[in-house]
Amino acid sequence: MSKNNLTSIDVAIIGSGFAGLSAAMEAANSGAKKVLIFEKMDKAGGNSTMNAGQIAAVGSPHQQRAGIKDSVELMKEDMLRAGANLNHTDLLDKIIRESYDTVKWTEDEFGISYRERVTQMGGHSVPRTLSTMNHSGKIISISISDLFICFMICHLITFGILNSSWHTTGKDIIDPMLVRISTMSNIDLNLNTKFENFILDKDSVKEKVIGIRVSHDGVNQDILCSKGVVLASGGFSADIPFRSVSILEFSLADTQPIPIALIFYLILTLYTFLEDTSSNI
Ligand SMILES: Cc1cc2nc3c(=O)[nH]c(=O)nc-3n(C[C@H](O)[C@H](O)[C@H](O)COP(=O)(O)OP(=O)(O)OC[C@H]3O[C@@H](n4cnc5c(N)ncnc54)[C@H](O)[C@@H]3O)c2cc1C
Repeated sequence: MSKNNLTSIDVAIIGSGFAGLSAAMEAANSGAKKVLIFEKMDKAGGNSTMNAGQIAAVGSPHQQRAGIKDSVELMKEDMLRAGANLNHTDLLDKIIRESYDTVKWTEDEFGISYRERVTQMGGHSVPRTLSTMNHSGKIISISISDLFICFMICHLITFGILNSSWHTTGKDIIDPMLVRISTMSNIDLNLNTKFENFILDKDSVKEKVIGIRVSHDGVNQDILCSKGVVLASGGFSADIPFRSVSILEFSLADTQPIPIALIFYLILTLYTFLEDTSSNI
C-alpha cells in the first residue's frame, strides 16, 4: 500500500501501463500534489511492457528519409477500415494527428531510440511503424541454429529471455518511464493493489466520482480524490461476453491453439530478425 496511510489525495490512477504512467506524469506536472497509481499486479507495466514496442506514426522523419508518402487522411482511412468503422472518430483524429508527437515525446523525455527502418504492419497501406531499439541499442548477432533453439526455449519458458537479446518490446519505453516516476516526489506507485469500485457523491445532481475503493492483501481502503480518478486499466480482451457481442469470431475461442500460435510466432520472429540483420543499423 502507499507509504503513508493516506485517505485523501489529489489524483488516483488505475493501471500502470503506458496510459496510466503518462496520465500520472501529466497530472503531477500540472500541479497535482499527490498522485497515486494503483496496480493490481506485483509488477508495473501491464500489456505495455510486453508489447512489441512498435508505434504507427504518420509524418516521422524516418518516413521522410525513406521517401514514403503518407498523410493523416490515409492513416485515418486505414484505421477506419481496420476498425470496421466502429472507431470513435474524434479520438481517432487525435491519435493520428498526435502520433509522431507521441514518439517524439518518448525520445525527448525518456531518451528512447527508434530504429531507422519503418515497417508496414497489417492494416496499414504504407510503411509507418517505428520500432524501439532494444536495451543495448544494438542488434546482437547470433547464428540461425542458435536462433531456432533460442525461439523454442524462449517461447516455452519465458518471453523475457527474448527481451534481453534482440527483440524489442514496450519495456524499452516502460522502464525509463518507471525510472522517471520513481524520481517524482508527488507520485507514488502501489503494486498488488486492486481497484474495486468508485466512491460516488450521491448528493450531487449527477452522481459524481469522489474517490475509489482499493484492496490490498484482502483489506479494503477508501481513498478520496479531490481532483480526479483516471481509469487506465487496459483493454477488454478478457471479457468474453463483451467480445462475443462486439466481434463474433473472438467469442469462439478463449485462446489460440498453442501449436498454431507457436508456428506463427516462429515465422514472424525469424522474418523480423532476418530483415533486421540485413537492413538495419
Ligand atoms: C503481446 C502484445 C503485443 C502488442 N504489441 C503492440 C505493438 O507493437 N504496438 C502497439 O501499438 N500495440 C501493441 N499491443 C497493444 C498495446 O500493448 C496496448 O494497447 C497497450 O499496452 C495498452 O496500454 P494501457 O496502458 O491502456 O493498458 P495496459 O498496459 O494493459 O495497462 C493496464 C494496467 O492496469 C492494470 N489493472 C487492470 N485492472 C486493474 C484493477 N482492477 N486494479 C488495478 N490495476 C488494474 C493491469 O494489471 C495493467 O498493468 C500489444 C499487446 C500485446 C498483449
